[in-house]
Amino acid sequence: MNISGIIRSSLIDFPGLVSCVLFVPGCNYSCFYCHNRSLIDGSYILMTPQSVKDFLQKRASLLDGVVISGGEPTLQEGLIPFIQMIRNLGYQVKLDTNGSRPEIIKALLKWQLCDYYAVDYKAPAKQYPKICGRGANALKVIETIKLLSESNVPFEVRTTVIPQLGKDDLLIISKEIPVVPRYVLNRYKAPDKYLPQDEEKIRSKPYSQEEINFIADSLKNFQPNITK
Ligand code: SF4
Repeated sequence: MNISGIIRSSLIDFPGLVSCVLFVPGCNYSCFYCHNRSLIDGSYILMTPQSVKDFLQKRASLLDGVVISGGEPTLQEGLIPFIQMIRNLGYQVKLDTNGSRPEIIKALLKWQLCDYYAVDYKAPAKQYPKICGRGANALKVIETIKLLSESNVPFEVRTTVIPQLGKDDLLIISKEIPVVPRYVLNRYKAPDKYLPQDEEKIRSKPYSQEEINFIADSLKNFQPNITK
């Protein structure tokens, strides 16, 4: 379990809590609009679990929670003992995940290790390989969301409204997942780093916030807890 990046203090990443955000290396997807592209290959290591522990012990009076983000945290060997270490220091834990490994989420739920989950549902199921890379399987993500729905733990599902998703696609997305306690439409922002072949996609005109608000209203029948 290694860490490739850190935000030392955040008011926006863990609902209601002051948190730090830890970014793990490596991801099994390759979304063309990824904002953490430098993490995807998993080679850059900034902190070990011991240095995270030292940091959290020093920050005990300043932080309430720890967000584990990525990259994709559920790929990390040692995720469970790492979270246990953080909890033993008295912190609440939020996990950001692409939802591709429901078996890991099942274990985390069984041991009640996270206080909040955020799952990305990125595209209509049929378009997952096109948008997230070959091998991306939306059925795994739906399985993850169903596991969370059947638990009592707070969670949210998020979709980044990339220009390549039409309004019909967003309607399909809102129907493919079960009704969730919080569904967030995030506005697309072009990443600084991207693959040369993705230039045209990256530069496509994003939806305005007004357009996203309008779409969100039209999805309320299927996702009544939608926010934008
Ligand atoms: S799942 Fe997240 S970290 Fe992985 S490639 Fe997609 S946007 Fe990047």
